[in-house]
Amino acid sequence: MPELLLTARNLTKRFGGLAAVNDVSLDLWRNHIHAVIGPNGAGKSTLTNLLSGDLPPTSGSVTLGQRDVTGWSPEKISAQGLGRSYQKTNIFLPFSVWENVRLASQSRQPQAFRWLTPATHLIAVNARCERAIELSGLKHRKNSIAGTISHGEQRQLEIAMTLATEPQVLLLDEPLAGMGTVEAERMVALLLGIKKDHGILLVEHDMDAVFALADQLTVMVNGQVIASGTPVEIRADAGVQAAYLGEEH
Ligand code: ADP
Ligand code: MG
Repeated sequence: MPELLLTARNLTKRFGGLAAVNDVSLDLWRNHIHAVIGPNGAGKSTLTNLLSGDLPPTSGSVTLGQRDVTGWSPEKISAQGLGRSYQKTNIFLPFSVWENVRLASQSRQPQAFRWLTPATHLIAVNARCERAIELSGLKHRKNSIAGTISHGEQRQLEIAMTLATEPQVLLLDEPLAGMGTVEAERMVALLLGIKKDHGILLVEHDMDAVFALADQLTVMVNGQVIASGTPVEIRADAGVQAAYLGEEH
């Protein structure tokens, strides 16, 4: 039986009269990629913000592992095992790849190694940063200045920075945005590797990537879930074809 890592139950977020997210429920399992798709304005980014604690829900609940984390701060949710990348990058361009990953590792979970001696702490932090960089395919760029690597590599660095916090769940909002074909294929391969140890909630517009990656899909339109299921089920869904996939795919 796979392990349930993250659940959303009846999540709603209202901005004034607008229900940006309206009664959304979903499950994310370890070793799975759960893609959330839908047109612009569907509520996908708002949903990720509810899951990460960046926005409090109007109603509904979020469970991470065995814990009800509804209303928790982003810092507490991060420490509980959820790592997220932001659409707006927080890479320090003058710093090296390694330094960026080290900073992310320490800034997000300063308490993680508090019981270790300083030397053991250093070894543990360095090991998890090495691992994050390797999993993100950036080993050969470890000492490069972040501002000098390609756009695609900067997106890989964001994944490395997220992994350095040792999350169980990764929440990725459009990790392929702005990528060419080769970069996108590299990112798809990376995400397939990363899902071996994690659960990934993926918001993405690139439908080729989504259907190559997703184990499960949730389709949102106007804040609501109009369909959820496996890629085969979603492709065959007439309502999804009409509302979304028909135009783009
Ligand atoms: P998506 O990521 O699917 O494109 P969003 O979650 O960004 O959609 O937006 C969903 C809806 O909520 C849109 O109509 C958007 O204008 C609105 N919205 C998003 N954030 C806010 C906010 N902070 N205040 C008011 N309205 C918002
Ligand atoms: Mg968005």
